[in-house]
Amino acid sequence: MSSIKFLGTAGARFVMISQLRYSGGMWFSINGIQFLVDPGPGTLIRAVKSKPKLNPQNLEGIFLSHRHLDHSCEINLMIEAMTDGGFKKKGVVFAPYDCLYEDPVILQYCRGFLEKIETIKEKNFYNIKGLTFEIPIRHKHSVETYGFKINSNGKIIGYISDTSFFPQLIDAYKNSEILIINTVLYEKKENVQHLCLQEAEEIIKSIKPKKAILTHFGMTMLKNKIWEKKDIISDRTKTDVIIANDGMNFEF
Ligand SMILES: [Zn+2]
Repeated sequence: MSSIKFLGTAGARFVMISQLRYSGGMWFSINGIQFLVDPGPGTLIRAVKSKPKLNPQNLEGIFLSHRHLDHSCEINLMIEAMTDGGFKKKGVVFAPYDCLYEDPVILQYCRGFLEKIETIKEKNFYNIKGLTFEIPIRHKHSVETYGFKINSNGKIIGYISDTSFFPQLIDAYKNSEILIINTVLYEKKENVQHLCLQEAEEIIKSIKPKKAILTHFGMTMLKNKIWEKKDIISDRTKTDVIIANDGMNFEF
């Protein structure tokens, strides 16, 4: 059994700083391999307070899509937790170049706790304990940003992190059977580099995953009660669309 636990579903700064939704990112468990994606504020507390509890020492790695705080705030803390306080050298962190070398979000002393740091780049493949994933394309966001497609027994799980819409996204994430989309905006807003609901629906209609999961909600998504719109969105896209909530455990 594989699963994705949504430790937080907050997107962008206002929902994060108000904590209207938690902001702990996602905890993947695929064929027994556990790894964490985008550890925003509150990741550690949401993990250890989960039922059943998620133990950071079981993590094999952490994927950082980009350096914005709602994704990266607890990266150092989670590295320390994953490595048993820094005493057990293990694990891999996957992060864009700028997170490591330009405006670093990972402290030098924490880097030494890790077995490996991988600088992610588009069109490259990576490996975490035998699980392979691809970075299909660089996103259009104000800082260097990537999502991934991970292979779980031949099933592709795609994660579209923060980005503006651009047509190449569709080709990049095609063949995803499960597609997670960070959908911050209810309606399109000029000069805000995030997907809106209509763009997320366009992506779903083109890629046709078996299941699409919307998460990372901004204020307008909450004001418009996005959690009540599952059926309408599923009808419009002819896809089973799931509206993530804090603590949701998605099994596949
Ligand atoms: Zn961002």
